[in-house]
Amino acid sequence: MIMLKTDPELALMREANRIIAVILSELEERIKPGVTTLELDQWAEQRILSLKARPGFKGYPGRSGAKPFPATLCTSINEEVVHGIPSAQRRLKEGDIIGIDVGTIYKDYYGDGAYTYPVGAISAGARDLLETCKKALQLGIEQAQPGKHLGDIAQAIDDHVRARGFEVVRDLSGHGIGRRLHEDPQVLNYYDGQRGAKLKSRMTLAIEPMINAGTFVVQTLDDDWTVVTRDGSLSAHYEHTVALTDNGADILTRI
Ligand code: MG
Repeated sequence: MIMLKTDPELALMREANRIIAVILSELEERIKPGVTTLELDQWAEQRILSLKARPGFKGYPGRSGAKPFPATLCTSINEEVVHGIPSAQRRLKEGDIIGIDVGTIYKDYYGDGAYTYPVGAISAGARDLLETCKKALQLGIEQAQPGKHLGDIAQAIDDHVRARGFEVVRDLSGHGIGRRLHEDPQVLNYYDGQRGAKLKSRMTLAIEPMINAGTFVVQTLDDDWTVVTRDGSLSAHYEHTVALTDNGADILTRI
């Protein structure tokens, strides 16, 4: 069931997601060659706590048999699509791209957002991948308005990504969000020919295209979390949490 949020709920989600925007914005200057993903994670955890929220992903249950997610940030470098685990052994280098996904909990409500950053100078191909994913997210959000359908979001994202010669990851999707990190509905990023549920004011959705330079096929590493492209090609990920209003999508994580 898709939960429609009340005004008090939306106020709490606005704060949870404002904090996401602060973190993603302040991370930009911290992303540089030589920095480890653990350093980024430790900074983000303290910063979220200083803003009176809690990390939303730390301790999140994994698939059956998997350990809970151990960190505040998901840090996914190059061919890593999502859910990379921060580590003192992973040091950024010039030319990398790093997707950072961050979750918060503020007074029992979740915030969720992601951004893919270049590390120093990156290749033209990597730049194109990032710009395409960012634009696809924007086009998806433009469809997130009452009267449209979930399939309109998927189609807008998928059409743009394909036209640029990239592929949309299919095994992972966006989601409703609120008192739980993952609520109904599932928000697909690829178009499966279905219109899907009709969108209504007061729905809150995390829209998050993940796109690959090569095949859309992905696999999960032995750490139970890190998702990588099967062919080793680069992957990008951007995510906004939006609240639907009669005037269209209100981007709660706007940076
Ligand atoms: Mg999400």
